[in-house]
Amino acid sequence: MANVRLENITRRYQNVTAIENISFKIPDGEFWVLVGPSGCGKSTIMRTIAGLETATSGNLYIGDNLVNNIPARQRDVAMVFQNYALYPHMTVAENLAFGLRMRNVDAAKIKERVEIVARSLSIDHLLNRKPKQLSGGQQQRVALGRAIAREPKVFLLDEPLSNLDAQLRDDTRAELKQLHQRLGITTVYVTHDQVEAMTLADKIVVLNGGKIQQIGDPQSIYAKPANRMVATFLGNPAMNILPAIYANESFQVGSQSLACPPSIHKRLQAKEGQAFDLGIRPENIEIFTPQTAEEDDFNRDIWALEKVPLDVEVKVVEPLGREILIRASLPALGAETTVQLQVPAGVRLRPGDRLTVQLDFDRLFIFDPSTGEALYP
Ligand code: ADP
Repeated sequence: MANVRLENITRRYQNVTAIENISFKIPDGEFWVLVGPSGCGKSTIMRTIAGLETATSGNLYIGDNLVNNIPARQRDVAMVFQNYALYPHMTVAENLAFGLRMRNVDAAKIKERVEIVARSLSIDHLLNRKPKQLSGGQQQRVALGRAIAREPKVFLLDEPLSNLDAQLRDDTRAELKQLHQRLGITTVYVTHDQVEAMTLADKIVVLNGGKIQQIGDPQSIYAKPANRMVATFLGNPAMNILPAIYANESFQVGSQSLACPPSIHKRLQAKEGQAFDLGIRPENIEIFTPQTAEEDDFNRDIWALEKVPLDVEVKVVEPLGREILIRASLPALGAETTVQLQVPAGVRLRPGDRLTVQLDFDRLFIFDPSTGEALYP
């Protein structure tokens, strides 16, 4: 096992900069996920660590060794791709043993390793089958097993679940997490799927346009995204963004004025007339239910300032079982701007319904509209 350290790694192809000044250090035994939209540079970083790609500049260390000029097969890393290729004419046992055989490990040791790995992945009953006699999930486990059998210092997984159907993907994801908890091999995992990133990672590296946007554990990134890209990328349904102008201790969203709680307007003094992007997650929007007069008096002191009403028009209703996902437009801003919110399953709403929702400004995010940088909280 080993830590992995990237120091100012840049990779250019003629006039394209695929990744730029990438630096991070993965401590021994941790599970890190590289996540970002297609083309953000995830695979380039992964292939550079594997030794399948040479950095234009920068240094890469595995353990204490500078490996810039060490060829892939001497790096002691094992890689599993989205399109894992098992040898079709070999049995599962032979597939698992292949890497060890290539390294001239002795036969008794190979047999022992294959059995241990097969048991740990619950494929020990499949050892005599050929790949085409296995389901997609079983094949994927054999591919993982083949990589594990070599006992690499570092495990590189590039979208390893994306060929599986939804249920199997969830199951295999949980198995992968358990496997990592048991083996503790330093792992780098590439995905464009934010759910995989959130559920698997010790640390997430969010990438966009070849640059690191933020590194952190899933909860802290979710709670305090560095910028609008990270905020809208992590979380499903995605964070809503409302363009607003700050004036008179309120946010002007189109023709509607949203009162700004003191905690926020204290921070925005001297920003009168400036534009901001407000970020609010779907789980922090709820349908406004009128209170009785007593409740209203009672509640006003507690939350009235943080719950800010907004008028919306329902566009799409998507039942999810336990909840209903609503996509609604803002009449105050015209039809293009929409917000997403989740309401309890019993609530009956139809496209065209107009209603008032409450935004929980206690959970508000504010971004600079030109740079996207997070300004609040
Ligand atoms: P991701 O894995 O996040 O989808 P990649 O690392 O594959 O992204 O690619 C990052 C960027 O580098 C993209 O803009 C891609 O078009 C470019 N790129 C990758 N490989 C090459 C190549 N061999 N030649 C030219 N451009 C490339």
